[in-house]
Amino acid sequence: MTNLASKIDKDYHNQNPVLLVVLNGAFIFAADLVRRMEIPLQLDFLRISSYAGTSSTGKMEEHFLWRIDLKNQHVLIIEDIVDTGHTLHHLLDKIKAKEPASVDVVCLLQKPAAYAYPTPLKYVGLAIPNEFVVGYGLDYEGLGRDLDSIYTLKPA
Ligand code: 5GP
Repeated sequence: MTNLASKIDKDYHNQNPVLLVVLNGAFIFAADLVRRMEIPLQLDFLRISSYAGTSSTGKMEEHFLWRIDLKNQHVLIIEDIVDTGHTLHHLLDKIKAKEPASVDVVCLLQKPAAYAYPTPLKYVGLAIPNEFVVGYGLDYEGLGRDLDSIYTLKPA
């Protein structure tokens, strides 16, 4: 975590980035990451939801909770986990439309085997196998976000 924070500090030196936290899952990761960073930054929060009855490839809607004008800003999205990448790339398209100076991603976890896009993610905490994980902000049916560590959910 400290290594990730230092690397971001170095890369965004003098850029006063806007860190966009994707709720709910990234809240603990974001809190730990920004407390280890030293450069001046702004934080904003957004929530992404799928329309009812759709899968992860379905239509998504994002809700900015406190809207900073992203035009000409250096934006860094803080995600909990990137699986297929559909959620993230939907968000990237929406953010690019706001004409930021740059937009990149830091995610705690990535499942490379499931990732369906050619663009690599700039900052990845840990690459994991294609398994369902809970804890440290990540839930299973609403539960488990409060767990202090990350666990693989095994079928009963
Ligand atoms: P993607 O659009 O990349 O397929 O899925 C991203 C979203 O699916 C994540 O933001 C997260 O909400 C959920 N997700 C994907 N894999 C996992 C997992 O292993 N555990 C949990 N709790 N959520 C996951």
